Formats: sequence, structure tokens, C-alpha cells
Amino acid sequence: NPIQIAIDGPAAAGKSTIAKIVAEQLGYTYIDTGAMYRAITLKALNEGINMASNEEAGELLLRTEIDLQPTEAGQLVFLDNEDVTEAIRTQHVTKAVSEMAAHSLVRERMVELQRQLAEGRGVVMDGRDIGTHVLPEAALKVYMSATVEERARRRYDDNKNRGIDTPLAELQAEIATRDKMDSERESSPLRQSDDAIFLDTTNLSIQEAADKIMQLAKE
Ligand code: C5P
Repeated sequence: NPIQIAIDGPAAAGKSTIAKIVAEQLGYTYIDTGAMYRAITLKALNEGINMASNEEAGELLLRTEIDLQPTEAGQLVFLDNEDVTEAIRTQHVTKAVSEMAAHSLVRERMVELQRQLAEGRGVVMDGRDIGTHVLPEAALKVYMSATVEERARRRYDDNKNRGIDTPLAELQAEIATRDKMDSERESSPLRQSDDAIFLDTTNLSIQEAADKIMQLAKE
């Protein structure tokens, strides 16, 4: 029987890193829903559409194809058949994504796609509203967090490993702003589902956090 695992939480809490490991260990498909919001944001920036408009954002989505492809090397993200896996990770996109993701017309379409991707297979899906809205029947729901200082530090180290040098203070401010926008929007905001298990990863290694979820998945 296909099992669904939902992992939600604020920005840079380690969700995707840990979700990937858990999916691999269980032989499930990893679905990164943030990548979908990032992809439509990249297109909106490229086309210069009015990011504040729900209607314009909704219209843009109607002529956009977003596709997630699980591969051996990880999840690839396609925007209108172009591989944008790297392009959606820039600070430019990161700073704009919460405004796009707040639009109800964007969320409705994304949620539809996400449910299609999850249908009939074991999945580990990460995002902001997976446990509360996208997969309310998920067998296991985890809400993962860490202090904003720790999350900024991890993002800083990740960036450094990829040759990007954004000041720590700027990263921390961007993360805090994004969390505020994601939790204050009207349309399915970031929130811990009542039946989710809270996991504070501030003092946990990646492996420890993954082990904890594997243990919960076996219960
Ligand atoms: O997970 P990631 O940090 O890549 O997500 C980028 C942004 O996409 C979030 O800050 C949020 O605005 C949006 N998002 C969302 N709902 C999800 C996943 C991501 O609104 N399920």
C-alpha cells in the first residue's frame, strides 16, 4: 500500500535534505513542492509580469508546464521542458517566491499537480501546507524546525559549498521575511497540522533527523 509522508516547516529547516534521505531509504518518490513555486516565480520574473496580481499569476500558470522528474541523481525540475533545477535556487528567485506563492490561483493549480504526483505511489513530500492541505490523509506528518540563526548558518554553509558568498545577516533576514509572509498569507499558510509530530533539528545532525523520521515511519 502506498504511504504518504508529509514534511512541513519554515525555510531552510533541512526539510529537503532529510526528505530525500528518507525517500531513498524507503524506496519512495521525493516531491519538493517548493521547487514548483520557485519555477513559476522564475517564469514570472523572466516575463516581467505583475507579481502582485492573482489574476496575472493565474493566467501565467495556464500557459506554463511544470514537471518534476525523479532521477538517480535527485529531482530535476522542468519549466516548459527546460531544465531549471539550478536556476530556481538563486537569491533573486528566493526573494520573490513568497509573493507568488500567496496567490490563491497559483496554489490551487499547484496543489492539483502535487496530488497527481502523489497518486498511487509512496511519497515523501515537503513544503509548507502538505500536512494541513495537500495530503491531509498522510500516514505520517512531521513539522520540522530549527532556530532562525541555525537555519541561516546552514544555508550559509550550503551556499559556500556551491561557491556562493551571501552574508549571513542577509540570509537570516531573507529567511525571517519569507517565514513571516508564508505564515501570514490567507491561502493555506505555513502551519503545523494538529496531527503532525514536531521535530526540532537545531541540535540534530542530518543523519539523526533522518533516523528519527525513519523510526516514526516504522511505528
Ligand atoms: O521549500 P522552499 O524554500 O524551496 O520553498 C520556496 C517557497 O515556496 C516558500 O518560501 C513558500 O513561499 C513557497 N511554498 C509554499 N508552499 C509549499 C512549498 C513552498 O507556499 N508547499
